[in-house]
Amino acid sequence: MTEKTPQRRMRPCPICSKLSTPEDYPFCSDRCAKIDLNRWFNQGYTIPVVETDDIEDIEDPNE
Ligand SMILES: [Zn+2]
Repeated sequence: MTEKTPQRRMRPCPICSKLSTPEDYPFCSDRCAKIDLNRWFNQGYTIPVVETDDIEDIEDPNE
């Protein structure tokens, strides 16, 4: 086993563009992680609820 330091891909925090930390990857801090989480929740809430009973065939637009 060689003791090479694994080169982790340090990506900038998507919230504030600071370097992310292993503890809070891919964010720089717990605060930014929560901010991103809130963004996701807010986005989810903006999507209107679809009644699944009327859905027959949905094609994934992200395909
Ligand atoms: Zn950040």
